[in-house]
Amino acid sequence: MSVRLETRLREVLGKKTAEALADGLGLETVGDLLGHYPFRYAQRGERTDLASLGIGDDVTVAAQVRAAVKKTFTPRGGKGARGRGGRGELLEVIVADEAGRTLTLTFFNQGWRAKELVAGRWGLFAGKVAQFRGRLQLNSPQYQLLAEDAADPASAIEEFAGTLIPVYPATAELPTWNVAKAVHTVLGLVPSPPDPLPAPLRERLGLLDYGTALRQIHRPDSHEYLGAAKKRLKWQEALVMQTVLVRRKAESAGEAADPYPPGGAILDAFDARLPFDLTAGQRQVGAEIAAELAREHPMHRLLQGDVGSGKTLVALRAMLQVVAHGGQAALLAPTEVLAAQHHRSIAEMLGDLAAGGQLGAPPEATQVVLLTGSATAAQRRPVLDAVTTGAAGIVIGTHALLYDGVDFANLGLVVVDEQHRFGVEQRDALRAKAKKPPHTLVMTATPIPRTVAMTVYGDLETSRLTELPAGRSPIATHVVPYTDQRWMQRTWTRIREEVAAGRQAYVVCPRVGGADQDADDAGASDKRPPLAVTDVIEELRANQLHGLRLGLLHGRLDPDEKDRVMRAYAAGDLDVLVATTVIEVGVNVPNATAMVVLDAERFGISQLHQLRGRVGRGTHPGLCLLVSEAFEGSPSRERLDAVASTTDGFALAELDLEQRREGDVLGAAQSGMKSHVKLLSLLKDADIIAAARAEATALVEADPRLERFPAFAALVDDLAADRGEFLEKG
Ligand code: ADP
Ligand code: MG
Repeated sequence: MSVRLETRLREVLGKKTAEALADGLGLETVGDLLGHYPFRYAQRGERTDLASLGIGDDVTVAAQVRAAVKKTFTPRGGKGARGRGGRGELLEVIVADEAGRTLTLTFFNQGWRAKELVAGRWGLFAGKVAQFRGRLQLNSPQYQLLAEDAADPASAIEEFAGTLIPVYPATAELPTWNVAKAVHTVLGLVPSPPDPLPAPLRERLGLLDYGTALRQIHRPDSHEYLGAAKKRLKWQEALVMQTVLVRRKAESAGEAADPYPPGGAILDAFDARLPFDLTAGQRQVGAEIAAELAREHPMHRLLQGDVGSGKTLVALRAMLQVVAHGGQAALLAPTEVLAAQHHRSIAEMLGDLAAGGQLGAPPEATQVVLLTGSATAAQRRPVLDAVTTGAAGIVIGTHALLYDGVDFANLGLVVVDEQHRFGVEQRDALRAKAKKPPHTLVMTATPIPRTVAMTVYGDLETSRLTELPAGRSPIATHVVPYTDQRWMQRTWTRIREEVAAGRQAYVVCPRVGGADQDADDAGASDKRPPLAVTDVIEELRANQLHGLRLGLLHGRLDPDEKDRVMRAYAAGDLDVLVATTVIEVGVNVPNATAMVVLDAERFGISQLHQLRGRVGRGTHPGLCLLVSEAFEGSPSRERLDAVASTTDGFALAELDLEQRREGDVLGAAQSGMKSHVKLLSLLKDADIIAAARAEATALVEADPRLERFPAFAALVDDLAADRGEFLEKG
């Protein structure tokens, strides 16, 4: 039988192993298994500091047995313990690393293990780190002992010391060495799988061939080989990904879209009544967009601009240009609160230009409708009608816009607000509702480094708004230690002062409360759970903010209630809004001047920056107080200090990115990409990504269908299809 990457593991491995690989790790084929890379490599002595093991960590350590002692034990409490009288046999094994640091292994009623766990033997020990009477231990660890090789133990240890032992993502049923064994078997069956990288490129860049790279990543001969293997495999990931994006960009550049000439009655009327001047940036980006909408190819543009830089206005003017020439525009918002607010503020800005179809409306007027998931069937019907007939020029909504049954008469422009909450897939789903590819404008307040932009938004052109509209008020930010009574009192007094001066405030908490004992506090018994809005509002109402008009807003309220609260707050009928991060993006109440963020260390840097962007939106200066228990000098506290020290969103975003994990960077943005990118780091491998982008561009230019490199084309198609699959499910 000739074994290929597509061969099922069941055909080449034992039934039990194959099943464990499939059930535990989702690995079905030879290729799947070879793509299951070690996540690190153990070396004897690598973990010299055994004391740094964290309690609760799943670890694999290389160490030498020092002593094994059998004891009998009676479990504390006695009652309910296993066995008659609750007595059992405990085998305690002390192992040590090269530095002499020790770790205790315990085995219950497995005294026979003392025969193999004899002093002097080296092995790998894997388990969860626990603490007992102040000592770290692994309870019933799995282990693999180094061959005894009594003939020459020194050289065996020497060899062991030099060997990089792969450590695989594993499961309880399938420890890492069993995975290693299966990989070893399979590697022997496919010594040289077909190489998917275009050969000329591989040779020019001096990259390892595929078979060698796979062998070396699983069983490295040296650190050098391991490095070369990783480089080669990262290049493959980067090149495939960039080729998908470059090809996609090339394809859409060739698509035909409806052109919408600049200006037009409703846009001109709107501009004429705009109460302020556009900023220079708004004018420049506006002109760029206006020109692109006028072309016969779809626009794909990303608009970056800090919180409050006036992106929505830029988008609205683009929408009006489309509406002026008979098209429809959809605005996709990440939350119902934000969609509702966009609807309110856009209708307000448009005035009677949004009164299309009503008596006395100007002839150029259109309708602006809101469509969210929570609308009842009866509420939806007239809205859907207006969308279908084209009477609604501007359709605002959440992902409800993506559902079946929402049919546009003539969708010409899709605007996606706060893109980091949406994936390319959703963007595509909405685009699919247009008869011709619509123009697309994506707005984000989170600045993105170039290589990340290249990947996550690899098919978009980028514009930036770098200045805030004139007349913005500065926001002062301070960190308040939660344990300092005087500061805390002062915090609430400041809120009362703002309210007394006729202004409003936000109090933000990380959690809703009630039944949502969320994942992050499960198990962590010594840590108090994050503060919850439902508790905090009671406390504030009874004490610190007694007598003020408080409103509660969080994601689990029903949508009518959310809308009611938001309206009341916007109208000034509430003094203080106690909320979760539902207010994070876009909420715009210019009279709100102060914000208190409780448990501030629980939020990310960019998130805090977004949150604080809710104040200082009017003529009065903003105040943001970050209340936290984080110790001075701790990493959490440093993040808060960073937020307090600057209002430069771009600087903060970069800091944030450095601290975020890779997975979060990709976020939900590219679900297909995520499973594809195993080794490549969007942050650390910026040079590979940039170089791969250039290579991909050259490849696609020379050979759009990649006909010269079928194996490579197949990988590219696979990744492109992964994304399509999600689309169909969505
Ligand atoms: P972003 O979405 O970029 O955070 P918005 O579009 O919500 O910012 O704008 C914030 C506020 O600034 C809105 O109230 C908007 O009406 C106002 N605004 C926008 N452009 C200008 C401008 N050129 N001059 C004055 N105010 C502006
Ligand atoms: Mg906005």
